[in-house]
Amino acid sequence: MVMFNKKYRDYKPDIIMDLVDPKLIELLDEFDAMVRGKLYIHRMYDENAGHRSQHRAGRAADVHVQGMHVLDQWTLAERLPWGGLGVYGPDVWRHPGLHLDVRPGIVGARWGYRKSPKTERKIYVGLGASFIKWILECYEEEKS
Ligand SMILES: [Zn+2]
Repeated sequence: MVMFNKKYRDYKPDIIMDLVDPKLIELLDEFDAMVRGKLYIHRMYDENAGHRSQHRAGRAADVHVQGMHVLDQWTLAERLPWGGLGVYGPDVWRHPGLHLDVRPGIVGARWGYRKSPKTERKIYVGLGASFIKWILECYEEEKS
């Protein structure tokens, strides 16, 4: 069962179904069935999102899986055909997790989101070895 955060629960289910792409719900249900922990949805349809945001189009969800490392959430989510997938670590989200979307036409948009060590600003970066190293270092800092 998909868990919604407080903000999301304010929407009535019929309104949600009107505003959200059914393909997104379908894939979220599939993802939910694959994970052991609870799947929390923090943001889905958002009329205040940026003009080009998939959230504004009802095609994106920001989620986290309780008790699951964000890198494990990512590799598991990759088994499903997301149009876009962003990885958000502990330096940018209190509950590290994923942006998942079903954008049309483009398959394979992938990115990481992190704090710049120089400016402390949040920046989009490619998903690769240096980003993974950064995420692991963030978790190390949390422990110490
Ligand atoms: Zn998002």
